[in-house]
Amino acid sequence: MCIFCKIIRKEIPNKTILEDDNFLAFEDINPQAKVHILIIPKTHFDSFNTITPKIMGEMTTFIQKVASITEVSHSGYRLITNIGDNGGQEVKHIHFHLLGGEKLGGIL
Ligand code: AMP
Repeated sequence: MCIFCKIIRKEIPNKTILEDDNFLAFEDINPQAKVHILIIPKTHFDSFNTITPKIMGEMTTFIQKVASITEVSHSGYRLITNIGDNGGQEVKHIHFHLLGGEKLGGIL
């Protein structure tokens, strides 16, 4: 079982920001910004390649709530999902990185 599925099952501890029946948002263990939250669906999908439009749509609303709770909605933030080896994806359970709380360096 993947590490994020274990976090969902509470077999590995996490610092939860927001949770509902379908999604979990928790602090990244190795933050790359003052605010660095990971947002995952509770259903396992390996990456963005296989997530369904329905769950992706529902996750949009959930991510917007996380941005509001972490007070980055207005100051701005970055959403990243890494996909596969070339994309730098280490954990093979789709996750969005929400980064903010400070001016972020440019990568593009
Ligand atoms: P990625 O490289 O896009 O797959 O990102 C994986 C992210 O998961 C990294 O930013 C890690 O710091 C983070 N991570 C790995 N294990 C944990 C954990 N147990 N709790 C919180 N974050 C984790």
